[in-house]
Amino acid sequence: MPSEDYELNEDEKLLFEKILAEEISFRRIEEFTAPETAVKLRRLATQEFGKLEFEEIQNFSLDVETAGRKNIENMIGAVQIPLGVAGVLKVNGEYADSEYYLPLATTEGALVASVNRGCSAIRKAGGVNVRIFEDEMTRAPVFKLESLDRAKKFYDWVKSPEAFEQFREVAEKTSRFGKLLGVKPFVSGTYVHLRFSYDTKDAMGMNMVTIATDAVLHLIEDEFGAEPLSLSGNMCTDKKPAAINTILGRGKTVVAEITIPADVVKNTLKCTPEAMVRVNYSKNILGSARAGALGFNAHAANIIAAIYLACGQDAAHVVEGSTAITSMELTKYGEVNCTVTLPALALGTVGGGTGLGTQRDCLNLLGVAGAGDPPGSNAKKFAEIVAAAVLAGEISLIGAQAAGHLARAHAQLGRGKF
Ligand code: NAP
Repeated sequence: MPSEDYELNEDEKLLFEKILAEEISFRRIEEFTAPETAVKLRRLATQEFGKLEFEEIQNFSLDVETAGRKNIENMIGAVQIPLGVAGVLKVNGEYADSEYYLPLATTEGALVASVNRGCSAIRKAGGVNVRIFEDEMTRAPVFKLESLDRAKKFYDWVKSPEAFEQFREVAEKTSRFGKLLGVKPFVSGTYVHLRFSYDTKDAMGMNMVTIATDAVLHLIEDEFGAEPLSLSGNMCTDKKPAAINTILGRGKTVVAEITIPADVVKNTLKCTPEAMVRVNYSKNILGSARAGALGFNAHAANIIAAIYLACGQDAAHVVEGSTAITSMELTKYGEVNCTVTLPALALGTVGGGTGLGTQRDCLNLLGVAGAGDPPGSNAKKFAEIVAAAVLAGEISLIGAQAAGHLARAHAQLGRGKF
């Protein structure tokens, strides 16, 4: 028995023996004891299997019951990620119109410092303007039709207003908040993918749209006799790099923009607008094009990942978020006009990991925890802040590369204390 603070009572010892003997599988332990104890016993059994003693993963403040109900199976503990703040970041959005400290969870030294520097330049330049252009979460089932003729009939039926009205009615019965916005068919031989898109208000929405689309599939089977091969046919496209998301959008399509005067660039970023424009063109535009990248940016994923981890988002959606395009141009007054376009920002302020204590603290810091009034306004505010934060990161990193500071900053901050 490991030495740690695992004082087991007789019942727990008996249960533990059964777990070790594989009479009770890991996934069923909660059926026999309280969630806290189940986590402890599973951790103990994992230690036995690994012939080690954990030093840290048992130390956490997460509510095991909440996490076990919605966020994790076979829980044994928690990993911690350092949390820093960058800012303040001044955002001039339609939903976020204030200054914010950004919660960033990361192990990459220099990242928080870099975003912080971007925030500083942004504040001196009056703040980031942000607007949301599209807001729809997608799910795309795939159907196989018996013939080309049936495929064409199916395609035409799906596009009819009558069919859409039926889809909408059925889909919207599954949620108080989700609204079906559209369905776009794509044909490949006798296969047809239907890309359904929904307004999911404050939820990121993947569960919501999956449940709603499943209901529509039953209707399609009944009404048209077309059987789905898969509820997700990958034209959604969830958590995979895909041009369709960058073209049609997925989650929120957001643009952030700022014009930074030359003296701010010089004093804060230690370079010139001309140098930033040159680096941005040669790296983010030319280099990305030559590399066949979907993301034409310096490190959007860094900022999105750090905010997503801090704020209880589905970290895999960094994939879509990373397909951002950063532009930098000189104005006739010698300023640098910077934009970042995020075609597919999937995020939410309810559901997923947003209800976990530490993550909720971070959402509260931004003033976006929970459901917005009106519904959807919190998620939109959050999206504007994330887009502005990405621009802060882009400005800082392009500035550092234009000034030749990148390696130095990483050497000082990322490798500081060995
Ligand atoms: P969810 O927690 O499943 O659903 C959101 C819930 O919040 C719904 O019950 C909704 O009510 C409720 N709600 C309350 N106030 C709301 C408001 N103002 N706006 C919107 N909803 C509100 O969360 P989700 O965002 O749909 O799904 C996120 C989860 O899906 C994440 O954990 C993610 O990892 C996971 N995920 C799932 C799939 C999949 O294929 N299923 C794929 C990728 C990720 P209603 O019940 O009335 O709708």
